[in-house]
Amino acid sequence: MGSELTYRGHESQPVTDSYSPKPIKPWFLVTRPIRYLLREQRLVFVLVGIAIASLFFTAIPSSSHAPYDPSQMSGTDTFSYVPAVSHVGSSGFGSVRSGGKVPLGLKRKGLRIVVTGGAGFVGSHLVDRLIARGDSVIVVDNFFTGRKENVMHHFGNPNFELIRHDVVEPLLLEVDQIYHLACPASPVHYKFNPVKTIKTNVVGTLNMLGLAKRVGARFLLTSTSEVYGDPLQHPQKETYWGNVNPIGVRSCYDEGKRTAETLTMDYHRGAEVEVRIARIFNTYGPRMCIDDGRVVSNFVAQALRKEPLTVYGDGKQTRSFQYVSDLVEGLMRLMEGEHVGPFNLGNPGEFTMLELAEVVQETIDPNAKIEFKSNTEDDPHKRKPDISKAKELLGWEPKVSLRKGLPLMVKDFRQRIFGDHKEGSASTTTTTTTSSTSS
Ligand code: NAD
Ligand code: UDP
Ligand code: UDP
Repeated sequence: MGSELTYRGHESQPVTDSYSPKPIKPWFLVTRPIRYLLREQRLVFVLVGIAIASLFFTAIPSSSHAPYDPSQMSGTDTFSYVPAVSHVGSSGFGSVRSGGKVPLGLKRKGLRIVVTGGAGFVGSHLVDRLIARGDSVIVVDNFFTGRKENVMHHFGNPNFELIRHDVVEPLLLEVDQIYHLACPASPVHYKFNPVKTIKTNVVGTLNMLGLAKRVGARFLLTSTSEVYGDPLQHPQKETYWGNVNPIGVRSCYDEGKRTAETLTMDYHRGAEVEVRIARIFNTYGPRMCIDDGRVVSNFVAQALRKEPLTVYGDGKQTRSFQYVSDLVEGLMRLMEGEHVGPFNLGNPGEFTMLELAEVVQETIDPNAKIEFKSNTEDDPHKRKPDISKAKELLGWEPKVSLRKGLPLMVKDFRQRIFGDHKEGSASTTTTTTTSSTSS
């Protein structure tokens, strides 16, 4: 090592220079780099290097603004999409993705993503997909309706963090994307403490938008079909402004989400935060709270426990039921795509509650009885998404029909209600949902 250094020193300091007091001529200084390049065929090597690099980068199309390709999502580490997250209003925290061209075959660098409400039903499935894709995920949840069990299978994974935090309080993090799901979704849960629900929707969303603005992260709001209220337009398009009671028992949720949408658009227009808005229609699947009072979870749990299925009102009101893997797919496409939204994400298949009860009977117990109960206040009469916008701009549509998705949920509920582990554990949900999406 030492001798090598000594030798190079001699080479760079010619003997003539060491003792010569003569000033160096300017032409000599100018031509020195050229002569260096021409010596020992260095120029040839430099030119060949430049040629190879140009060929490599020009031959490969840019992926930075390409729409999200689901076929690349199924593998865990071959996904080469790099979203360009702009750094609007950044205060200098190092969360920029350059959006430059990424050579094919090079592994995409994982993003740092916050999922608020990530210990809940939808959030936990989303977390599974993000982790499988190679991202680092921080779940922020106050466990009001979420459960550690939903994300426990990621404990010990260095790409996973769980923070017990209420989004109503400010939060400082450095991230690239924020999926903002934190909010109870079942009417029973959100009516339990309506003031808390509206604070979560308004103050919680404000805080997460403030966070997005500070670090230049892209922000996705999970809004709801409830923004259409008891709709006078059927099916509902995103352009419909809705028919919402502002002072009813559901208003804490409906108006809360409408305000959350307003805030999201105001941060987009005013602070140039990159935002996305999803309007989610009724979603079901494994990991739903068993006793959350929603109709699918109620009917499935009741049929399994040999209790009568409780149909509210005359049972002729309609809903459209989407399997959770379809929703997660839609949310990820929306986040990675170029369109702000809002986008309806739901399954256009429309069922009356009596028809749903029949499907549950067929799936679990043909002898299950039906019991009529009085309906709740302000219950929307019908609900069905028009998903043409999502089809056209996100290339998304649901794949799992109710008759295909329901048995997957029943399997999970059976295990959780009866502790029957013969059919596999709840953590197989990801595998199940992923495969069912493509089926
Ligand atoms: P969920 O109740 O299972 O999950 C919500 C999660 O948010 C839970 O883990 C809960 O503990 C957490 N949370 C609630 N308040 C919080 C707070 N203040 N701070 C931190 N965490 C908080 O509900 P879900 O079905 O998974 O719904 C997720 C999101 O999707 C919600 O925003 C909901 O409004 C929206 N959405 C869901 C449906 C659906 O049918 N599942 C339909 C429309 C919209
Ligand atoms: N906020 C946060 N985390 C951040 C940045 C902001 O929780 O990293 C909160 C902040 O406490 C404020 C809200 O987000 O209540 C809105 O922030 P913004 O900077 O937009 O508004 P301001 O603080 O000027 O009212
Ligand atoms: N519902 C029902 N039986 C139940 C629970 C709900 O018939 O045990 C009805 C409810 O009246 C509503 C529909 O099912 O018309 C969907 O209710 P859910 O609470 O699941 O969702 P949301 O009202 O938010 O769409």
